[in-house]
Amino acid sequence: MKKTAEKVTIIGAGPGGLATAIALRKQGIDAHVYEKARDLRPVGAGLGLMPNGLRCLDAIQPSILNTLKNSGCQLQKTTLKTISGETIRTNESTTMAKYGQPTVTIWWWRLQQILASFLPPDVIHLNHRCIDFEQNENNVVTYFENGKTAQADLLIGADGANSVVRQKLIGDGEPQYLGSMSWRAVLDYKEELLPPDEAIIMKGEKSLFFIFNLGEGNMNWIAQKVLSEASFSSTPAETKSRVFKEYANWNELVQKVIEVTNAERILETPICQRLPLKQWSYGRVTLLGDAAHLMPPSSGQGTNTTFEDAYELAECLGNCPDLETALSTYDKRRIQRTAIIQTRSAKEEEFQNWLYDYDPKSESRLKPWQETVTV
Ligand SMILES: Cc1cc2nc3c(=O)[nH]c(=O)nc-3n(C[C@H](O)[C@H](O)[C@H](O)COP(=O)(O)OP(=O)(O)OC[C@H]3O[C@@H](n4cnc5c(N)ncnc54)[C@H](O)[C@@H]3O)c2cc1C
Repeated sequence: MKKTAEKVTIIGAGPGGLATAIALRKQGIDAHVYEKARDLRPVGAGLGLMPNGLRCLDAIQPSILNTLKNSGCQLQKTTLKTISGETIRTNESTTMAKYGQPTVTIWWWRLQQILASFLPPDVIHLNHRCIDFEQNENNVVTYFENGKTAQADLLIGADGANSVVRQKLIGDGEPQYLGSMSWRAVLDYKEELLPPDEAIIMKGEKSLFFIFNLGEGNMNWIAQKVLSEASFSSTPAETKSRVFKEYANWNELVQKVIEVTNAERILETPICQRLPLKQWSYGRVTLLGDAAHLMPPSSGQGTNTTFEDAYELAECLGNCPDLETALSTYDKRRIQRTAIIQTRSAKEEEFQNWLYDYDPKSESRLKPWQETVTV
């Protein structure tokens, strides 16, 4: 019998919730995942899995890594181009040689499917939107919008950027807008647009445009632009014409990639962060992934640090003498490291905005560079 927790409720079937459920079940803990979506549909965009995240998945269950490597794309090179399409340089990927793991790009949905396939189907409860929870010294009860409840020894909020669990536990409001909007989409892979193992990065004055393969016949683009106010399109067609407008004077590749994208597939997202917390765990409730440490994508670490959380939380629950020690050890192992990564990623975003916002006609150009994020 586990002294830490026998039964665990996890909110969210994203990369964090699912990887944690796999890791906990391997420790003999009866972990159940509750997800608000009605089904696991093809949603989200592409993301990059880096050596630190891949190593944690490997430690959780080695066969996950092989499946991911076969399904996603192992990047070999990155080409940097100007907005008019001239190549500045091509860098060979060094992650394998330096860190023993490649960089794998994959569709968020495929990652979700692969992780879900390592769990018994009856432990993933779809159409369960968490709305509240109550804890006492013996257990924690989670309430769902559909009227159902779940009782467990521990509740893990892995419910992403707008976490309901975090709101109830910490109550620190909405994520903070960092001054850039992003548009992302997955489309069918076309070799005439992109070599199979290469990522293309184009940098304009206040904008970026990335294109990379995701494996299994899919590719992805990410556009990011410095915009002082977050603003949203009202229809998919409006989103697509907005991206066309924002990237109007960019090269033919960018125009083609946007043109062949189904407007319904374009995700329009503000780049946000949350400030690092001093404590994630209170009583029988803790946080994990974006819910605990939402960070901007500049260092590509959102999902990777989430897998670090999953591995460490399972280690703590599997090896500590009691729940209180397990959760305080988890906080100790994770908060400082993720706060450093959050702060550095946010500084990179702030720095780029300060750099590119310089305008000789505006008084704000005289504002000095200020470091506003503290660990
Ligand atoms: C432009 C952009 C590019 C990115 N690129 C990268 C990258 O290259 N590499 C990288 O590592 N990361 C990247 N990220 C970040 C990455 O997408 C997230 O960090 C990662 O998906 C976090 O996983 P998670 O499981 O914590 O949360 P999520 O992926 O957000 O999953 C949360 C799950 O919880 C469910 N949920 C939410 N609320 C409730 C509720 N009340 N009840 C029940 N279920 C609920 C959601 O439906 C979802 O399934 C990027 C992000 C952006 C915006």
